[in-house]
Amino acid sequence: MISANLLAIFYLISGILFILALRGLSSPETSRQGNLFGIIGMAIAITVTFLSIDNFSSGFLYVILFLLVGGSIGAFIAFKIPMTAMPELVAGFHSLVGLAAVFVAISAFISPEVFNLGTSGNIKLASLIEMSIGAAVGAITFSGSIIAFLKLRGIMSGSPITFPGQHILNLLILISIIVLTYFLCLNQSPNFFWSLIAISFLVGFLLIIPIGGADMPVVISMLNSYSGWAAAGIGFTLENTALIITGALVGSSGAILSYIMCKGMNRSFFNVILGGFGGTDQTSGKTNKEQKPVKSGNADDAAFLMKNASSVIIVPGYGMAVAQAQHALREMVDSLKKNGVKVSYAIHPVAGRMPGHMNVLLAEANVPYDEVFELEEINNDFANCDVAYVIGANDVTNPVAKTDPQSPIYGMPVLDVEKSKSVLFVKRSLSPGYAGIDNDLFYRDNTLMLFADAKKMTEDIIKNL
Ligand code: NDP
Repeated sequence: MISANLLAIFYLISGILFILALRGLSSPETSRQGNLFGIIGMAIAITVTFLSIDNFSSGFLYVILFLLVGGSIGAFIAFKIPMTAMPELVAGFHSLVGLAAVFVAISAFISPEVFNLGTSGNIKLASLIEMSIGAAVGAITFSGSIIAFLKLRGIMSGSPITFPGQHILNLLILISIIVLTYFLCLNQSPNFFWSLIAISFLVGFLLIIPIGGADMPVVISMLNSYSGWAAAGIGFTLENTALIITGALVGSSGAILSYIMCKGMNRSFFNVILGGFGGTDQTSGKTNKEQKPVKSGNADDAAFLMKNASSVIIVPGYGMAVAQAQHALREMVDSLKKNGVKVSYAIHPVAGRMPGHMNVLLAEANVPYDEVFELEEINNDFANCDVAYVIGANDVTNPVAKTDPQSPIYGMPVLDVEKSKSVLFVKRSLSPGYAGIDNDLFYRDNTLMLFADAKKMTEDIIKNL
């Protein structure tokens, strides 16, 4: 068994490694190193936690058994999961963090003496407050993440579910959580404790059902933040500094990410949290595509246009991830550059299905970082560009976000691809993207639709180049 002082030093080392991990993960260039720091930090934290236990009871075998089973399932899923299913995986994992926090709070409430928190019915006030917060935030994270998982997986409709009086109901329930916590601290009745948990589960459900359309990215990062705070709350109950540090890091970085995403989407954080912001008329922007003519072309046409262009901007989106077209894309760009064409990549903050999705894929294909630009850096360049090659992107280019206040994506900044001389849209059909709305750009005079799988079309273009 290691001493408390040594334990504290090792926890501090893991905390520093977690901070270095976050720093590394902030750029694709250093992300692998960051990931490694995180792994080492977590390995140290788990090992020293085991070493700090003085008497191993037989029940402890279960802990090791479940750790092995859980770890193996996690590793199996992580190896198997396709990149496109990452957001729902993350939502699923967040739900488990929330549930773990609830379980720890329940154990602490039932057997406070085991955790040095007092005795049943006589738990320390500070501990009661900590476990109430941990349990409530954990329960909200659990049910909210389950709804996010179902929505992202397509099992539940991605459209916002709203009803009259929703905000008032949410407010009343949130107030009742505070009132229940107060009474729990006053008389420590288990009834208050169980009601608090039940109501918190309901809040998570009610908070996430009205969020839909283009606001889901913010929800994912918000739930990420909640899961961190739930862990930090439980860290106080367990008096475990590593858990407090890790939880606070996850909580604050998730909150900062949510803020950045809201800024990128031109949303107010409170509007997203209060729900229903994406809940404006879902039929807006839906047009009868049968009645509108579209110009479609093939790989030969696309190769001709791009070869004769002096500048091309690539706009990748979710369809590129589905088709795994990033390597072919890089090859196509290399070939264009050899022909003297200037090529850059334009990345929308919510392109794909998770923050940084496109950056990760382009980095995987070794696209040089100095060719990749964020929306605000490159949006003015479309006006001077010959060809915008939109590969599997849709919502992030939809001009309805600028023109129709009824649209669920109204107000979100979009890439102004229509300002380029020609727009090439690579997608398989005229189907809408995640937000479920038609894109008027498909029918414009300067648009050429390239109906095909993104990888197949890009490979065909390479042949024609
Ligand atoms: P979209 O979802 O708007 O559009 C993707 C397009 O890709 C579809 O219209 C689809 O058209 C096409 N596509 C699918 N598979 C293929 C394929 N194999 N080959 C070629 N095309 C294909 O994607 P965007 O990236 O433009 O926008 C992202 C959307 O996702 C936004 O609404 C955003 O809010 C939302 N979102 C983003 C998250 C994030 O964190 N980034 C998280 C959750 C949601 P077709 O079927 O015709 O081929």
